[in-house]
Amino acid sequence: MEPTPQTEGPSRRSVLSRAAAVAAGTAFASSALAQQSASPPSDAHSQNEANKTPTDPFPKNPELDQMFPSSFNPPYSDAGDVTTFKYPFSLGHNRVESAGWARQVTARDLVLSKDIAGVNMRLEPFGIRELHWHVAGEWAFMLQGNARVTAVDSDGHASVDDVSPGDLWFFPGGVPHSIQADAGGCEFLLVFDDGNFSEFNTFLITDWLHHTPPEVVAKHLDVDEKALKSIPPKDLYIFTGSPLQSLDADRKRALGPEGPPKIPFIFHMMQQKPDFDRKGGQIRIVDSKKFNISTSVASAHVRLRPGAIRELHWHPNADEWQFFIKGRGRQTVFTGGAKARTMDFHAGDVGVIQRSLPHYIQNTGDADLEFLEMFKSDFYQDLSLNQWVSRLSPQLVADHLKMDGSVFANLPKEKAGILPV
Ligand code: MN
Ligand code: MN
Repeated sequence: MEPTPQTEGPSRRSVLSRAAAVAAGTAFASSALAQQSASPPSDAHSQNEANKTPTDPFPKNPELDQMFPSSFNPPYSDAGDVTTFKYPFSLGHNRVESAGWARQVTARDLVLSKDIAGVNMRLEPFGIRELHWHVAGEWAFMLQGNARVTAVDSDGHASVDDVSPGDLWFFPGGVPHSIQADAGGCEFLLVFDDGNFSEFNTFLITDWLHHTPPEVVAKHLDVDEKALKSIPPKDLYIFTGSPLQSLDADRKRALGPEGPPKIPFIFHMMQQKPDFDRKGGQIRIVDSKKFNISTSVASAHVRLRPGAIRELHWHPNADEWQFFIKGRGRQTVFTGGAKARTMDFHAGDVGVIQRSLPHYIQNTGDADLEFLEMFKSDFYQDLSLNQWVSRLSPQLVADHLKMDGSVFANLPKEKAGILPV
């Protein structure tokens, strides 16, 4: 594609003078990024390429423009045609049922979302997500309320667990399961290890048995065929069930001679100590090393204080699929070839950062920003700018960036995770 004034990157000279200006600020990372959010830029380094605030005399959707200032008035460092890397659940079709709802973001909505599809589901009090299974593995994060989950593996190990906010579950592909809200109802995020997954095309018990010859079903359930007339002709999907029985009673019923599952289906993510506990926030990492059954989804939960930055980093092993739980922020992705794009994110948004592309996330709101990072992998992996640069000869780095080498000599070798606020 021929470069146009809009897609051209900043000139080499302006990049260098900018780097020098950044070096005069706080070491390496924060000052170039601590610019433009919703308010107009305040210094020369926070301007877009044209160095002016764009006007829009015929506003088509001023509310959206205001919500996404980095799109309408991108920072100076953005350039080129970088594929959209966000999609809000708010734009997803919501399947509304009598006892809850579900909406999804898949590769059909967000082209980059090829490794993972996500579902946001609400169950009203005593709402049940119908007994089912699917080909993809299912990882989940409980957002609000409490639920009881059941699963049975192919060796007959059965599991019944109650989950609360911050808990995870993982059901490998083919493992049948159910989710049942308690008297308070609940909401959760489901993540599937296949971007083309559809939550509205799973193997539901009513749908399956309705589409099996009745004499076959009757033989299995040891009943008269007439008794099967009450099986609903259409799936229930999400419906109101009976109040929950005691967990002990359900567990007793589930326990066979095989005993409980050797590897638990659930994990209390938010009860574990943060892997990074900084002034700017915390990061908790959970992959199959801790949550052994989750062999196809690795994850991190990140909380950023206002103004804090999840440091410039990349993930060598997999694409990152993000879900924003609370707050607002922005991130810039550099795709190589002088191309970069900044986008704003709000609670309920999904983001995808492709494998090995460097990015940062900055809290641009006045409350905590909380989000999840998910990877189709059995392990979590990242590498950061500072981790890299701090291990090199300061002179080698200074030769590249035309800066004073002492800046790099003082960088801590320990991975920051989150930069000091
Ligand atoms: Mn499921
Ligand atoms: Mn990341």
